[in-house]
Amino acid sequence: MNIRPAPTLYTSPPLVADDPRWARIVERDKSADGQFWYSVSTTGIYCRPSCPSRTANPKNVALHDTLESARATGFRPCRRCNPEGPSLECGNAALIAKACRIIEESEEEPSLEELAATVDRSPSYFHRMFKTSTGLTPKAYATSQRAKKVRAGLETGTSVTEAMYDAGFNSSGRFYEKSTGMLGMTPTQYRAGGANEEIKFAVGQSYLGAILVASSTKGVASILLGDDPDELVRDLQDRFPKARLIGMDREYEALIARVCGFVENPSVGLDLPLDVRGTAFQRRVWQVLQEIPVGARVSYSEIARRIGSPSATRAVAGACAANNIAVAIPCHRVVRNDGALSGYAWGVERKRALLDRESPQTA
Ligand SMILES: [Zn+2]
Repeated sequence: MNIRPAPTLYTSPPLVADDPRWARIVERDKSADGQFWYSVSTTGIYCRPSCPSRTANPKNVALHDTLESARATGFRPCRRCNPEGPSLECGNAALIAKACRIIEESEEEPSLEELAATVDRSPSYFHRMFKTSTGLTPKAYATSQRAKKVRAGLETGTSVTEAMYDAGFNSSGRFYEKSTGMLGMTPTQYRAGGANEEIKFAVGQSYLGAILVASSTKGVASILLGDDPDELVRDLQDRFPKARLIGMDREYEALIARVCGFVENPSVGLDLPLDVRGTAFQRRVWQVLQEIPVGARVSYSEIARRIGSPSATRAVAGACAANNIAVAIPCHRVVRNDGALSGYAWGVERKRALLDRESPQTA
C-alpha cells in the first residue's frame, strides 16, 4: 500500500496556486508579460509575470487582468521587473542591439568593460544579459562579425590582405593565426556560399627555394614556389579565398616528397591527379601547356594558335600568370617569340633555373 504525504492545507482557498497563470509566474514566462500582472501582499509590490525576483508564496499573491487593477491595490511597482516601463526583455534587447552595433562598427574589438559602459551596465551583468539574449558571449559575437566581414570581403573578390584589414586586423600574423578557426566558425553559413572546402597543404624545400604543395580531395590543387614559406601560405589563401587551409599532417609528408622529387626532375612525371580550377579559357591554355614536352620552349603566340585563338596572345600570358600549379602545368616553358624568358609568376630566376635543369645543353 502507498503512503502518501498529507495534502497541503491552505488557510485561504488555493485559488492562485490552482490558476494556470500561476505556473507561468513560477516559470517567469516572458510571453505572459502584458497579459496579466500580480501583486504580493507581504512585500507591497506588483510585478509582471516574468519578474526575476524570488517566487512569492501564492497565498500572498493576487492576479490582475489589467495594470489598472494592479495599481488599484495601492502597492508600488516592482523595481526589478518594472511593470510600468517597457518589459525587461525589451529594455535589454534595445541595449543589446546597441552593443551589437558598436561591435559591428568598431575597427578594433571593444573590450567587455567598454561595451558594458556604453550601455550603462556592469561588465558581469552585461555579459550575462548578452549571452542570454544572443546565445553568444560578446567576444564570440565580435569574432563572428569579423569572420563575416572577412568572408564578405573574400566573396566579393577582394584580396585576403584587403579583407583582413577591412575586418580590423592590423597584422597578418594575428589574422592567419585566427583565420582557420574564424572562417570555420559558422560552417553552415559559409558552406551556403559554396565554400568551406578543406585544402591541405605543406611547405618543403627544393633547389628552387620553398615549395608549397596543396591538395583538395580531387588532387593537387596548387604548387607554389618562393622564398618565404609564410608568403606562400598567404598566396595560397589568396588563390583559394573560400577554402579552409589545413596544415600538413603525417601522411602528407609522402605527397610533398613526391612533388619535390618531380620538381627536381620533371621528366619523371607527376603521377598524381591535378585539381585544375580556372575559367574555360584558362583551362584550355593549361591543357595545351601540359602537352609541351620536358625541355621544350613554346612562345605565347604559338600557344594562342594551338588553342585556336591566334590573336589571344595577351590572354594566354594572363592565363600563364594565373596558373596555380607550378611545374606540373609547365607555364615556365612558355617564352617570348624572340626566345626571351619574359615573366614568371614565381620569379624569372626560377623560370631560368627550371629551364636550365630541363635542357642544360641548350641553356
Ligand atoms: Zn517584479
